Amino acid sequence: MDCQEIKKYLYPFIDGELDRKRSLKVQAHLDSCPLCSLEFESEKKIESVINEKILRDKAPLALRERVIEQIELAEARSSLRSSGQFCLAGLLCFITLTEAIL
Ligand SMILES: [Zn+2]
Repeated sequence: MDCQEIKKYLYPFIDGELDRKRSLKVQAHLDSCPLCSLEFESEKKIESVINEKILRDKAPLALRERVIEQIELAEARSSLRSSGQFCLAGLLCFITLTEAIL
């Protein structure tokens, strides 16, 4: 697996949606590639922050504001990293999911 492929599988990997064979391959790449490993850590952190906030704030409006906050944070970071768009795409996907649940 190369870095491009890892990006495709990173979110399913974080969410534990990959089959065992694939997740082992992703894990192996993360172990050997500092760049993807960094990406993985930061995405995992964003996900856990959002999840925490959802548990804490049940009100949809408050949740929306928090998520927007996170997007702005991600955008601020994306100016430093070329992979920011990938990060933002994940957040937008997350909002869509959240709205479907609420
Ligand atoms: Zn890589």
